[in-house]
Amino acid sequence: MATRQIVIIGGGIIGCTTAYYLSRHSSTSSQSIQITLLEASEHGPAQGASGKAGGLVARWAYPKEIVDLSFNEHVKLADEHNGKDRWGWRYVGCGSWEGRGELVEQPSEDDVTRENKSLEKTLGLPGGQKPAKAKRKTGLPEDLQWVKEELTDSYTPMAKHGATAQVHPYLFTTSMFQLAKDNGVACIHGKAVAILQESGAVTGVEYLDPKTGGKEIIPATQVVLAAGAWSPNVVPNLPISSMRAHSITFRPRAGVNITPYVLFTEILAPTGSSSPEIYARPDNEVYACGTGDDAPLPPSVDEVAVDEAACALIQAHVTSISQELREGVVEKRQACYLSLVSTGGGPIVGEAKHIASGLFIGTGHTCWGISNAPGTAKALTELIMDGQIKSANLKKLDPSVILL
Ligand SMILES: Cc1cc2nc3c(=O)[nH]c(=O)nc-3n(C[C@H](O)[C@H](O)[C@H](O)COP(=O)(O)OP(=O)(O)OC[C@H]3O[C@@H](n4cnc5c(N)ncnc54)[C@H](O)[C@@H]3O)c2cc1C
Repeated sequence: MATRQIVIIGGGIIGCTTAYYLSRHSSTSSQSIQITLLEASEHGPAQGASGKAGGLVARWAYPKEIVDLSFNEHVKLADEHNGKDRWGWRYVGCGSWEGRGELVEQPSEDDVTRENKSLEKTLGLPGGQKPAKAKRKTGLPEDLQWVKEELTDSYTPMAKHGATAQVHPYLFTTSMFQLAKDNGVACIHGKAVAILQESGAVTGVEYLDPKTGGKEIIPATQVVLAAGAWSPNVVPNLPISSMRAHSITFRPRAGVNITPYVLFTEILAPTGSSSPEIYARPDNEVYACGTGDDAPLPPSVDEVAVDEAACALIQAHVTSISQELREGVVEKRQACYLSLVSTGGGPIVGEAKHIASGLFIGTGHTCWGISNAPGTAKALTELIMDGQIKSANLKKLDPSVILL
């Protein structure tokens, strides 16, 4: 019997990266520790936001308490495991692009009036929500040729070189999962329904076994709740809300060179204004996501509904400024849910002792969970294995502060 039995609930980027760090902690090999990751999706890890995000990793992300730690960990992970080839790690140019869209395809009126909630990625930039306008006529970089110069009003770099990088989030998350498994982490397919406790301390996780339809129990001395938007289904009354967002991926024609830029756009199109984010990826894939909506959270990640009209609208707006993308093929049309701390701030990172000792929470990562995952995972690992977070001061993110 292992002296510690750690169960991680959720195989998104937070759960998989935490499994990786726990399995590599110096005392894991010397102590008898069993780490188990429980994932509800029948398709395995990274089926939610962690597989469908843009993948930006930025020093200008937020909250600042965790950003530098996490960015530096991304750099180390990429060095150690050849992240460049394995999960598309690279530095990118990132800019705010403003301009006009050409009429390509007319979406229906219904499409044009749908929900329009910002993902709020640029809140961490100095000076508030928006970067200043470029002083030059357009400011468009010479090598950024996959948006039309004649439609550009302004391009403004959002951060200095080296402050913005990217990963392919699905490849990063599944690589963390595989590396954790290689190091002995067990994986169970099942949906956690309750955290069991005795005398104020966790004793196990109850889950639904999809094979039998019955309830099973995994004994636990420590539990990490990393179920993203679904976290309140396991620990009721957590102040976590959710927001659905759609995204699509393009495959440009062979031979078309998509240089490494991420654009935060403001497009004034004939059909109205929109602000898709557009991410060039190393394998010449291009990802684009739109704003969020209020669609209610389904019971599991496998039941997330994709609104084809929302995807068509992203496609129409993005292709209204880029001939290269207009001539490409749309390969994926998808949706996923952000988890937000409904009382503001977040993420929640730490031990929720007032609920049960041994219950650790890593959720509510808003639009920056890819960037902030390694920092979250390292901090949780230090807390679980060493009894305190040494690498950063995350007191503001502690459950005792956020959950009061
Ligand atoms: C459109 C969009 C673009 C984004 N772009 C970026 C970006 O560029 N950079 C960035 O840093 N962040 C980005 N994000 C945010 C980022 O995707 C999230 O913050 C991050 O993926 C959250 O990871 P997670 O592991 O907490 O949650 P999730 O990825 O949602 O994973 C939760 C997992 O828990 C599982 N689960 C749920 N309930 C249970 C249960 N009861 N039992 C077992 N398993 C369960 C789910 O099946 C799922 O696999 C973006 C988000 C969106 C929506």
